[in-house]
Amino acid sequence: MTQEPQPSASMLSPEAAPDPAFEAAYQAAEKSAGEGGIPIGAALAREGVVIASGHNERVQNGDPIAHGEMSALRAAGRQKSYRDTTLYTTLAPCAMCAGTIIQFKIPRVVVGETRTFDGELELLRSRGVEVVILDDQRCVEMMRAFQENKPDLWAEDIAE
Ligand SMILES: [Zn+2]
Repeated sequence: MTQEPQPSASMLSPEAAPDPAFEAAYQAAEKSAGEGGIPIGAALAREGVVIASGHNERVQNGDPIAHGEMSALRAAGRQKSYRDTTLYTTLAPCAMCAGTIIQFKIPRVVVGETRTFDGELELLRSRGVEVVILDDQRCVEMMRAFQENKPDLWAEDIAE
């Protein structure tokens, strides 16, 4: 018997099945792209159950602080504790979002990709946060297209 070709997502993801919380983050990023916004999404989950998701809202709401991670945390509302949560994000967290992850004591962050922006993963790790990198090709392609089409907007978001 010949082996059937594997779908590319499963080849690139270390996980056998798509993680619903990561898919929520990815879908939020796609929604933002569809709105002409910055295509970065995030989701907060507890024991595999999505609490909330969100996306970058710099364009949509004129809010420079509303990175994907910040929007997801805002949408999740007050949580008594984050110690049993995982934050999923399509792109490596910046210094602002990494600081918030540390402040809220979120123990685990799952990152879609780090190729188009390397973020503050060492800062997170230095503070005991577990960082999982999926290297999801969809996220890489979405960010590369955005960075090529709207370089000024991307530079604005990362304060370059
Ligand atoms: Zn950020």
